[in-house]
Amino acid sequence: MIASEDPFTFDEKVKSVKVKVGQLFEDRKLTLLSSQMKQSLLSQVQDDICGLSAKKQNGGKVGRLKFKSFVNCIPLKQHENTYTLTRKHGNNGRLHLQKCKQTLRVRGTKQIPEDAEITTAKLLKRGDDYFLHVNCYRFKKTVSLEKWEKREKLGLETRHEIGIDLGIASQVTCSNGLKVKYNLPIDENIRKYARKVSSTEKGSNNRRKARVKLQRAFAKHRNRKQEVINKLVSCLDLFCTDICYQNDYVAGWQRIWGRTILETSIGGLLGKVKTLPTSREVDRWEATSQRCQKCSEKTKHALSARIFRCGTCGHEEERDVHAAKNICRVGMTEGDEPEVIGDVVHAERVEPAYKTPVDMKTAAMMFEVLKNIPFVKVSLVVEAGS
Ligand SMILES: [Zn+2]
Repeated sequence: MIASEDPFTFDEKVKSVKVKVGQLFEDRKLTLLSSQMKQSLLSQVQDDICGLSAKKQNGGKVGRLKFKSFVNCIPLKQHENTYTLTRKHGNNGRLHLQKCKQTLRVRGTKQIPEDAEITTAKLLKRGDDYFLHVNCYRFKKTVSLEKWEKREKLGLETRHEIGIDLGIASQVTCSNGLKVKYNLPIDENIRKYARKVSSTEKGSNNRRKARVKLQRAFAKHRNRKQEVINKLVSCLDLFCTDICYQNDYVAGWQRIWGRTILETSIGGLLGKVKTLPTSREVDRWEATSQRCQKCSEKTKHALSARIFRCGTCGHEEERDVHAAKNICRVGMTEGDEPEVIGDVVHAERVEPAYKTPVDMKTAAMMFEVLKNIPFVKVSLVVEAGS
């Protein structure tokens, strides 16, 4: 498509492609691609070009378009048409692709809830493995009700609002005193394979093998990080009815802290929190770490100061917990209206009362859950005198 004169007027009904064999071109028939796949491949290329153009206009660096000898991703637009995924055998499903006589085994279909509606999917090749990414939809109400049922079973109070402060030293600090640290360093394998890729000859078989290994090692690292984030966020979502966060400029942190951010993927965590229906955003410029929690006066603090000391009333508190409480206060008073689920109104606006015995009970329960997530270190800051 890129080789054609104009990818935007390219005929998607193409039946064969020219393949370079040695010095000659050979016509090869497209036997397995269905017309829907061709269509979506074409629109994918067009979207990518539009994206690159937008990036260029915004001052980004864009190189020349290059030929691709293979495609790593085929979009599958319509379930039960372009592809059919059956979930009969527990975790083992079968995938049928249009124009493909054989069905393929798919592992991990258990992850898709029974009542979910399957829509689009993508067939991906990563390293030597094939993956199927499936998009599915569930009713918001079902998901919410499920959550409330789970909460009831755990004996949780009707409301628990929380503020979270993201940081470098400890990744997440909650207003109830929970501090979560996690760090997944780039492992030795990734470095080893990266060296191997750069030391082997270009185009050689060894280089290709090393590259596959490198991709695998990276995928493993990425998956681990993703798992930690998913578990963290699902814990927050289950125990808290409102999650207030400050929309920090994480991309800016990366420039200063580099690898630390890469190894923790704070941006990914923030992105995930944002998509929760229960999250409330606090403005980036709100002075949450300087304004006193008790008297609302501002006191300047150096970045290195770990304890907040109010210059007006003398209130003292651990810096991050104090900031998280502020985020919670601002989020709860200025955020959107709370969510109403079913016939039960779980949401009456209450003035956030911190450190009540109930709060500590929930915090202790969260501590138990977070403790069991791999690679996560969690501690509970208990205020002196309370
Ligand atoms: Zn004060």
